[in-house]
Amino acid sequence: MRCLRYGWAAPCTAVGICLASPAFLFGARMRAVDGVAEIALSARAEAGWLRKLPFVAITFGHVVIGATRADLERLRLHEHEHVRQYERWGAPFLLAYPLESLWQMLRGRRAYLDNRFEVQARAKEVHL
Ligand SMILES: [Zn+2]
Repeated sequence: MRCLRYGWAAPCTAVGICLASPAFLFGARMRAVDGVAEIALSARAEAGWLRKLPFVAITFGHVVIGATRADLERLRLHEHEHVRQYERWGAPFLLAYPLESLWQMLRGRRAYLDNRFEVQARAKEVHL
């Protein structure tokens, strides 16, 4: 069953690997956590220019790309829920997510915050 989930999400994982690969030339570090490749773009806590990116962490299949290790740890439950979504949807998730944002916008709602995939991921977060 696990092989099927990885295989089904593999095209999305490949996108994540392609996007993150150049970052390894500039010091990015990868760690496997619960079967997910977590890639920290910067080893430095302040992350400098990375704070200008429109995201702190983003998930593609079984790859989570985050600004720093601390960001990845803080957002792990949220991002790993996105991994579960990729496992359920497979490659169509790359289309389903933006279409859901578009649908929310057409309804006069917020593209990111009201996106059902984000609502589902936020529900997995634990606030201490
Ligand atoms: Zn999210």
